[in-house]
Amino acid sequence: LLQLTKKLIEIRSVLLSVDQSDALKLPSIVVIGSQSSGKSSVLEAIVGHEFLPKGDNMVTRRPIELTLIHSPPSAPSSSTTPSEYGFFPGMPHLGRITSFSTIQKTLTDLNLAVPSDQAVSDDPIHLHIHSPHVPDLTMIDLPGYIQLSSMDQPDALKENINALCDKYIREPNIILAVCAADVDLANSPALRASRRVDPLGTRTIGVVTKMDLVKPEHGASILRGDRYPLHLGYVGVVCKAPPTFGGVLTTIRGEKPNVTGAVLKREEEVFGGENAKYFRPRGVGEKRIMVGTDTLRKQLMHVLESSMGASLHGITNAVQLELEEASYQFKVQYNDRRITSESYVAETVDALKARFKEYTSQFTKPAVRSKLKAMLDERVMNILEQLYWNDPRTPELGKLAEDRKLTADELDAYWKYKLETASSLLTKSGVGRDSTALVADGLRGLIDGLATGEPFSYHPDAAARIIEFSHAILRERMGLTADQVENCIKPYKYEVEVDDREWALGRDRAEEGFKEEMKRCEAKLTEIRGRVGGGRRLGGLVNFVDGLEKAEEQRRRRRVSPDNENGEEEEAKGPDQLVEAYKYSPAQIIDGRHALLLTNRLMLLKLRHQALKSRRCRSGPDSAPFCPEAFLSTVADKLAYTSTMFINIELLEQFFYQFPREIDSRILYQLDRAELKKFATENPKIRAHLELQERKDKLEQVMRSLQGLANLQADVAGSNTKR
Ligand code: GDP
Repeated sequence: LLQLTKKLIEIRSVLLSVDQSDALKLPSIVVIGSQSSGKSSVLEAIVGHEFLPKGDNMVTRRPIELTLIHSPPSAPSSSTTPSEYGFFPGMPHLGRITSFSTIQKTLTDLNLAVPSDQAVSDDPIHLHIHSPHVPDLTMIDLPGYIQLSSMDQPDALKENINALCDKYIREPNIILAVCAADVDLANSPALRASRRVDPLGTRTIGVVTKMDLVKPEHGASILRGDRYPLHLGYVGVVCKAPPTFGGVLTTIRGEKPNVTGAVLKREEEVFGGENAKYFRPRGVGEKRIMVGTDTLRKQLMHVLESSMGASLHGITNAVQLELEEASYQFKVQYNDRRITSESYVAETVDALKARFKEYTSQFTKPAVRSKLKAMLDERVMNILEQLYWNDPRTPELGKLAEDRKLTADELDAYWKYKLETASSLLTKSGVGRDSTALVADGLRGLIDGLATGEPFSYHPDAAARIIEFSHAILRERMGLTADQVENCIKPYKYEVEVDDREWALGRDRAEEGFKEEMKRCEAKLTEIRGRVGGGRRLGGLVNFVDGLEKAEEQRRRRRVSPDNENGEEEEAKGPDQLVEAYKYSPAQIIDGRHALLLTNRLMLLKLRHQALKSRRCRSGPDSAPFCPEAFLSTVADKLAYTSTMFINIELLEQFFYQFPREIDSRILYQLDRAELKKFATENPKIRAHLELQERKDKLEQVMRSLQGLANLQADVAGSNTKR
């Protein structure tokens, strides 16, 4: 009435999920026996159904942890809640299985899934059976002991089975040692194993099967247990009906009938009637002889209940200790902060959005504009180099600028044409495409950074999804944006109007740019000077290289000149040069050539810098052909400004709007409960947190139940003594 067993069985299930260590184990009944001793038949007789894997060579390969739950029969009208069904807690998706054939098939499949080279696995299959016809029991079915290894069984099988059984028959479990009546008990591996771990037989019940195969008097003598006494005794059973029985009663749906009736009938034949006299005590004081599956069932319930009752105190203490430890750890490690998978996912997504928002400050209009400007400035420098710095006439331009009387209109068409070329090189350099790509690359880098940093490093799937959808948005927007930008800068390809203020700013910037460029050249020269070994040595080297180059130039001219008809090659190097050539290594010659180039470049830059500062260049936009640098800088600035405006509207604003929404719809709302949990536990810190929290919760729950039981027990004991 206390339903102690039932409650402790529930507690046992929870404890099993908390940990597998022996400390928190409540007793269970472990069924051992040699192959074909009738082990499966006994279990099926107790359950009332055939449900265990059968067939040739079908040894149980994994322990089956069977939890029988006595449930009241459901009202006939309520078809939705079956009263008799099986449930695999490890495979909740299978739901409640009402067909025992399906249970049998599932167990067979699980059995076959164990690779044959592994022989047996010690990973148990958990199966709950709810039924009005079963008592509350937990039983573990183990692979049967092999007595003679047959050819097709791996050698390791026997050893592995022994080891597996040894693991399960430890305290506090109750051992159900199954032996067949027609085999000498001395040969029973089950009894031998049990005697090793339980010499007094205080937690072993002997089950003698196949009692129909021996004469009743012989059967009764076995059950008296005189030869191998067991404190809990032997129970004799007959579990298999005559073979014709099962076949006839198979119902139309192919479902096997309940075996209980058949078993009881068979047992009545064997133990009742004429035979009953053999199974009565022979004299006063002799113990009752136990026969029948009904008796076995009651005996099991009784033994399990008292064993559970005896463990109550110990397990309560053990759980208390575990709970204290878990609570302490929870306090110390997490300051008692509770989390859920949902809260973690929500926080992660919020943090991602917040960080994204923070990062978007890198993409304000001024920031984008200055990036684009830098890109275009570099382009301007390249154009200047190509068109002006490499042109030997360029120094002339400075002198022309000094001529106050010469107006821009009167300037040689050569320079005006050059300026137009430079301007159109710049405006037609694919600014739309390149500026959009530059900004999109920046965004991609930002997203990739977010997706690969913590905590997304723990969530590779989510990270891949973020990268995928954000790249998709960018891809989609890029073409459009580039076209827009290109369209809007189109007028500049024909004409660029510059006012005085813009000119002044452009000139200032160009001056700055030249200063930078000169610094770069000087830095490089200093570097080479250091390598070559000082200024004087570099001077010598540059002179030498200059001489070489001039000579080469002369030779080239002479070779192509019509005067040199006889094609004579004059020796260009004088004796001095020959001597000097040995002073420098090939690497130094290369350095020398670079230094020469840089020196010439620097000279030119200085000239142009001077020109930029001149009165002429300060005079205004009309002086553009004299000061192409200032003009191009102004154009670059206009291009940057216009590009920024359209990139901002078409690309950035769209992306900033879409990205957080996509996160919600593709990450947050897309995950179901199981995926939320998977996501959360991908992060090891969160997994540890959740595990400890869950462990603590379960231990608390168990502790409450245990205390309830202890109180109940005390009450009952109290009222018993009062009576
Ligand atoms: P297990 O290998 O130990 O699980 O044994 P089974 O339950 O599969 O039984 C082995 C064989 O013994 C089967 O052919 C059963 O039909 C038969 N068997 C089991 N119990 C009895 C019984 O009480 N009487 C008889 N005559 N045969 C039985």
